[in-house]
Amino acid sequence: MTPGVRPLIAGNWKMHGLAADGVALAQAVAAGAPGLKAELLICPPATLISPLAPVFAGAVALGGQDCHEAAKGAHTGDISAAMLKDAGAAYVVLGHSERRMAYRESSHRVCAKAEAALAAGLTPVVCVGEPEDDRLLGRAEEVVAEQMTESLPAGFGAAGGVVAYEPVWAIGTGRTPTEANIAAMHAMMRAKLSATFQAEGAGLRLLYGGSVKPGNAVAILAIPHVDGALIGGASLVAEDFLAIARAAG
Ligand code: PEP
Repeated sequence: MTPGVRPLIAGNWKMHGLAADGVALAQAVAAGAPGLKAELLICPPATLISPLAPVFAGAVALGGQDCHEAAKGAHTGDISAAMLKDAGAAYVVLGHSERRMAYRESSHRVCAKAEAALAAGLTPVVCVGEPEDDRLLGRAEEVVAEQMTESLPAGFGAAGGVVAYEPVWAIGTGRTPTEANIAAMHAMMRAKLSATFQAEGAGLRLLYGGSVKPGNAVAILAIPHVDGALIGGASLVAEDFLAIARAAG
């Protein structure tokens, strides 16, 4: 944790949830939110943002999982940052590795999306992380540093943007980097944020994501400069998500 920074525990539901089960899961998460030190964020499918807003009633923040970089226009199937905000979102996840890989989203495009998010009043949660090959070649920090350089727009620091380190090979696999590897990566990321955004960079939240579970959350969240977690699979089980949130203090 970074001293003085409120941890953020974020759940990415991905393409899971219809109205009935999404509301039931949200009700269970909301019931466990009071008294937690951490801020809770749920990023459901866009169709559920509006229905979940009254369930969370501000006790749990809502976020989108992606947005288009344009404010409006002929972009069939896409969603704008302003639409997410209008539906009740405060955050938007950008540059998740599933989108970087499936849709070949470049870091420059992620940066444009983050600019659109900031313009709409959303806080971007920008994901970065190395493929396994780069980790094995000893290039992990170089790859992540380059992704940060290219993905974070100028206004990111002033707006309190969030960066999530998500090694691609750790997502949904049950595998995690060593605590020493996470610590080294987050130290590099903090130094880079401070160099880029000066004092504002020192207080931005840096999340770790990739197979965070109740059983490893205490150790991961105790690592310096790990200010929270981005959680996929375990966020679909309310008790697991809340157990991870409690591990943040
Ligand atoms: C993710 O998809 O961002 C993620 C971290 O997934 P999981 O927790 O399932 O590894």
